[in-house]
Amino acid sequence: MSIADNLLKYKSELDPAGVKLIAVSKYQEADAVLEAYNAGQRIFGENIVQELVDKQAKLPQDIEWHLIGHLQTNKVKYIAPFISLIQSVDSLKLLAEINKQAAKNKRVIDCLLQIYIADEDTKFGLGFDEAIELLRSEEFEAMKNVRITGVMGIASNHALEKQTSDEFHELKVLFDGIKLSFFRKTAHFKEISMGMSGDYKLAVEQGSTMVRIGSSIFGKRRIKHYTVE
Ligand SMILES: *Cc1c(COP(=O)(O)O)cnc(C)c1O
Repeated sequence: MSIADNLLKYKSELDPAGVKLIAVSKYQEADAVLEAYNAGQRIFGENIVQELVDKQAKLPQDIEWHLIGHLQTNKVKYIAPFISLIQSVDSLKLLAEINKQAAKNKRVIDCLLQIYIADEDTKFGLGFDEAIELLRSEEFEAMKNVRITGVMGIASNHALEKQTSDEFHELKVLFDGIKLSFFRKTAHFKEISMGMSGDYKLAVEQGSTMVRIGSSIFGKRRIKHYTVE
């Protein structure tokens, strides 16, 4: 199936459920992104800053770019002028830098707190307690140029369905708790980003509001020359 066919298939499944599709274009050439754009897709996710910056410069300016991969504080400045949503905030220090760079660009940058839900040591993210601590901190309270619009999580790789569902459920419960405690009166705290090609159905069942799908839209990843450090 073509990229356009794949998008259509996802849209017909996700639109009725009110779930947003983030097309993960990491390691794909700009022409593949353009193909998806021409089929109507406007939100794309990347996980390496250099790759994102290169594509953003080349591609239509009305694309909404999301950063979904680990972000180093010294790279925030490169994406601050244009990024729509940083999904992978995993420390107060990073959030402080995003706030600073957003202010320099006279913007408010939307962010998700990346929460650690997987049963693995390798994934980035805040623990439940750390997320609460961040939201309670005076430092966070003073930040005027970032807006937390929800949470993001990555389930364990190769887990049984039951475990994956449980991990997504935990994220939903945490979201509900944070909403009640910190954002009861703020409509903008509404996103639960969970679900990828292999597990998006389980994520949607558990209350996902945005899924991040890469390989099953674009097929095999084609470029390998960007390095993750
Ligand atoms: C690569 C990636 C995805 C997309 O994964 P696929 O299995 O290709 O759909 C989603 N979220 C994050 C954080 C990723 O790094």
